[in-house]
Amino acid sequence: MSQIIDGKMVAESMKSAIAQEVNELIASGKRPPHLVAILVGENGASETYVANKVKSCGELGFASTLLRFDPTITEAELLKAVQDVNDNPEMDGLIVQLPLPNHINPDRVMETIHPSKDVDGFHPINIGRMAKGLPAYISATPQGVLDLLAYYNIETAGKHCVVVGRSQIVGLPMSILMQRNHPQGNCTVTLTHSRTANLEEMCQQADILIAALGKPEFIKAAHIKPGAVVIDVGLTRIVDTSKKSGFALKGDVDFEEVAPLCSNITPVPKGVGPMTIVSLMKNTLLAAKGVIYPKN
Ligand code: NAP
Repeated sequence: MSQIIDGKMVAESMKSAIAQEVNELIASGKRPPHLVAILVGENGASETYVANKVKSCGELGFASTLLRFDPTITEAELLKAVQDVNDNPEMDGLIVQLPLPNHINPDRVMETIHPSKDVDGFHPINIGRMAKGLPAYISATPQGVLDLLAYYNIETAGKHCVVVGRSQIVGLPMSILMQRNHPQGNCTVTLTHSRTANLEEMCQQADILIAALGKPEFIKAAHIKPGAVVIDVGLTRIVDTSKKSGFALKGDVDFEEVAPLCSNITPVPKGVGPMTIVSLMKNTLLAAKGVIYPKN
């Protein structure tokens, strides 16, 4: 039976370390890290994600500001709000919750966030710096996966890593990170997507399989090389009337089928999910300390 990678436990231990650093900052006379979240409109899932981020700020001793805007806000008005945060030296990190209303170009918004405050790591400068191996904010979910691999001492060098999904926020950065010359890198990487031919055969060659396609329980036993490490990034809400909430969370991997075959596997929930918020907090702490982009 495989080892279950306990993301909840790792996230809790990282949160304690971050809270400790925040205490030390404050004890040395500095202000706490300050994260700003922009939320446009009233998308239920976005509300939950942002509320969880604000809650984490409170738990770790960070300051937070939630800027809410009506869905009728113009793009120019939103860009001005972003610029105001850029210009405010008391605000360290800014996230703009996606999706945005259709009349607003998300790329323009992301590119307006100053790279030094882009703690989501979505700005092209941070993505480019990451690709070059320069200090950069790395997007939260891929960073969380790297931290899990590190925590469990999973050897990556020389392994074949297959990433399923090429999104800008998960699959693409994940593939770049896994090939870097880095303790959690040096893999030979195959990046797959919905147009990949023979996906099953590709996955069968993976020593490390990272599923980020958003299709519940898509990865079956037939995709798995015995002994592989399987990281399930997927998170889809499925109607489940037996639950109080009315839904259950499913990953992209059929856990029951796959777990007996692999060496390590992340469950859903309590796998990659809890790591994502911690990574965002870690980036905000780095921003407050001026580690990636030194403060003036
Ligand atoms: P996304 O933007 O929808 O991208 C999905 C990717 O999967 C696309 O590249 C798509 O290919 C590919 N794909 C879709 N169907 C496929 C198939 N049948 N075979 C191979 N590739 C296929 O999704 P995302 O934002 O990356 O998120 C992926 C999953 O991770 C979702 O379940 C999401 O909820 C979850 N997620 C979890 C966290 C967390 O904190 N745990 C964070 C972010 C996302 P094309 O490019 O060809 O369309």
